[in-house]
Amino acid sequence: MHSPRPTVQVPRMIRMRAGDNVAIVANDRGLPAGARIADGPTLLEAIPQGHKVALCDIPEGGAIVRYGVVIGHATRPLPAGSWVYEAVMRMPPAPSLDELPICTAPVPEPEPLAGYTFQGYRNADGSVGTRNILAIAMTVQCVAGVADIALERIRRELLPRYPNVDGAVALHHGYGCGVAIDAPGASIPVKTLRHIAQNPNFGGEVMLVSLGCEKLQPERLMPERFKDRGETHPDLVRLQDERHVGFGSMIDDILAMAETHLERLNRRRRETCPASDLVVGVQCGGSDAFSGATANPAVGHAADLLVRAGATVMFSEVTEVRDGIDQLTARAATPEVARDLIREMAWYDDYLRRGQADRSANTTPGNKRGGLSNIVEKAMGSIVKSGTMPIRGVVPPGERARDKGLLYAATPAGDFVCGTLQLAAGMNVHIFTTGRGTPYGLAEVPVIKVATRSDLARRWHDLMDIDAGRIASGEASIEALGQELFERILEVASGRKTWAEHWGIVNDLVLFNPGPVT
Ligand code: CA
Repeated sequence: MHSPRPTVQVPRMIRMRAGDNVAIVANDRGLPAGARIADGPTLLEAIPQGHKVALCDIPEGGAIVRYGVVIGHATRPLPAGSWVYEAVMRMPPAPSLDELPICTAPVPEPEPLAGYTFQGYRNADGSVGTRNILAIAMTVQCVAGVADIALERIRRELLPRYPNVDGAVALHHGYGCGVAIDAPGASIPVKTLRHIAQNPNFGGEVMLVSLGCEKLQPERLMPERFKDRGETHPDLVRLQDERHVGFGSMIDDILAMAETHLERLNRRRRETCPASDLVVGVQCGGSDAFSGATANPAVGHAADLLVRAGATVMFSEVTEVRDGIDQLTARAATPEVARDLIREMAWYDDYLRRGQADRSANTTPGNKRGGLSNIVEKAMGSIVKSGTMPIRGVVPPGERARDKGLLYAATPAGDFVCGTLQLAAGMNVHIFTTGRGTPYGLAEVPVIKVATRSDLARRWHDLMDIDAGRIASGEASIEALGQELFERILEVASGRKTWAEHWGIVNDLVLFNPGPVT
């Protein structure tokens, strides 16, 4: 008989900047009281994985510094070796939007990265798809049930005859009627729906299902396509039209319209495209304290490589950059970009104020269990996804990205809303980092999921595409993992399936609608 051998773990800490007075525990199951940190204090209490330890004595009211930024002030004395968590810190106010540094941190012109390509579907407007998908757009939720039945038959009866088409999706949404469509906020959901239908993965094909009496009429949704047209249009099925007698005729019409679009889509072929045709949207969800130490810095390095290769990279999530706005305005390529950044922050501050909330409403119970004490700490870890390149432009919510390089797409941080707005902005690959774990996926673009911890990557081995926990364990550098992610992006853009695609895991599109419902 023998007792199980106790597992001896060498305490491992991650300190983000030399001046930080806290570090996070890297060990998988946390560390017990009495654990000795090399060149640091002995833990006074047990500290869970991802949570912070005071590296020196922090007096009451003293600054708690991580990422070189004050993430809070101590509400009581915190001796070296203490657990530093939400209840022992007070959150600082958000930086004022007046007198921010503008273009004070110019980035030297990056060395171009030549020779990287992927196999994509080039569209007439110059954009490039990474998938070849038939999309059924709709003006209003009323038609969603009919569109779904038609979609099921398209998948079963038509798609097998069009082998070059990757799939068919219905672009569901809860908008289109019962809303104050002339209110200022309404332009966001309307533009979002218009631009999602133009995502490069749909090949420039638009087929629209409308009810007939809804507020969001086809010519309002897509003025260029449906303006000055008579009652019939080859890309439109309107269920209330008199020609429809019974449900079957509606389905027949949608199927017939789908067939003409499938014939064109089926003629598309992948061709060699430069990496500069990529439009990569990055975001995080279910974050923990490792997000900002492993996965997000690796995404930041991949973002730098993409930008150097001429691609477009969009980072987003207003409440997760608000506390770092001074870093962003300093990195803006021009004063106009800095002004656009400030305008989006001010608009969102006001939006939250009207709802009697502020940026601190962002953090979740899971974030806090994962070691993120407040939105300041979460934001500092989130913002590193943007890498180090100059910010070339700002995409307001619902708009399509028009510039190349690193862009700030102003979206809420909520995963589905952010992904939906990045789709509208024209992304053709989505990068999603997670620490707590989420099975998130989209039907419209491939989503590459990056785990912040190896423990999650092991348990969710058939959901996570990349394990960034190897940075915490010392098996890989941030740069090596960023390079690996960059190469994976090119492979996935060329057709390699992500785990979410393999299983068919698909989340709903969720519109950002700041306007009133009637
Ligand atoms: Ca998010």
